[in-house]
Amino acid sequence: MTRIHLSPPFVGDAERDALLAAFDDGWIAPVGPELDAFERAVCERLGCTSAVALASGSAALHLALLDVGVRPGDDVFVSTFTVAASANAVTYCGAEPVFIDSDTTSWNMNPELLGRALDAAAQAGRLPAALVVVDLYGQCADHDEIEALCRRYEVPIVEDAAEALGASYRGRPAGTLGDVGVFSFNGNKIITTSGGGMLVCDDPDVAERARYLATQARQPVVHYEHTDVGFNYRMSNLLAALGAAQFARLDEIIERKQTIRRGYEARLDGLEFMPTPEWSSPNHWLTCVLFDDRAQRDSVMRGLAEADIEARPLWKPMHLQPVFAHAPAHVDGTSEFLFERGLCLPSGAGLDEHDLDRICDLVVAHSGRG
Ligand SMILES: *Cc1c(COP(=O)(O)O)cnc(C)c1O
Repeated sequence: MTRIHLSPPFVGDAERDALLAAFDDGWIAPVGPELDAFERAVCERLGCTSAVALASGSAALHLALLDVGVRPGDDVFVSTFTVAASANAVTYCGAEPVFIDSDTTSWNMNPELLGRALDAAAQAGRLPAALVVVDLYGQCADHDEIEALCRRYEVPIVEDAAEALGASYRGRPAGTLGDVGVFSFNGNKIITTSGGGMLVCDDPDVAERARYLATQARQPVVHYEHTDVGFNYRMSNLLAALGAAQFARLDEIIERKQTIRRGYEARLDGLEFMPTPEWSSPNHWLTCVLFDDRAQRDSVMRGLAEADIEARPLWKPMHLQPVFAHAPAHVDGTSEFLFERGLCLPSGAGLDEHDLDRICDLVVAHSGRG
């Protein structure tokens, strides 16, 4: 039997044709019509003015933080329950992450903890230069609450929507809920360019600045003049062709992911799934469940691994990572609890009913629930 991966790329003839058409037309690199078309398509769907296709979600986060004014020595508040990339980008700027824990309603940043952390920072005269709020596993954070708190202290918001393309919050699309939004098209994300990312915003000047920094900060003269340190962060036109073809299928992929989540719910009655608050319309990137304790979770994970099926614990919180051990953290145990008990189930858009039966039989057998 073939291995079942957690979230493999879901691509087919449409993507292959688009990639080869760009190749055959000679638009190999660096920019080209596919890059423009991909950016325009994303802007249209999201209803924002500007998008910049980049080499990765990490690159997009880095540029987003620079764009909103993060400088060496600054503090940046970050969701602790996330992948390392969210916090790494802060250190790329020479700034320091300060971690904020999750709530139990969305598993994303807890607005109450954020409010207390902001009040304390204001009192200490050390407000963060920005906030990175993550939309985890394709579900938005409680952005109205978070925005209200940040507005009070004029802290700009970078929305790390790397996992949340196609999700929405009270009808507003993920990526447009902060000052600058970031997506990833890494191989395991809801759509992929094999590797890539995008920065979106509603301010053409901010986008222009990102585009400039992403292309070695070259001044508009022929002799390669530089007044800033830039980066080589732009997405290649070939990959943008792949991205545009994937993006055209986003609704189909979300539908498939939603069917997978429903399939798990029907088969795993009694397990606790990632909750969906009334304001949330997730893209169901990964289906995540909680077990009674770590031993039960690990037993299920082992049982699946023996059958060549990949499942992973939920993200290990950043404040528990050795690399960020020194960073201040406003935590109440929520993300630690989720990390101990949580499991991401295989959620590839290509899974069928037979796969779900197989996976769920193993989950039930190895959780001692059968
Ligand atoms: C994947 C991911 C990133 C990084 O994106 P890359 O394209 O892998 O660099 C950042 N934040 C979150 C929440 C992610 O899931």
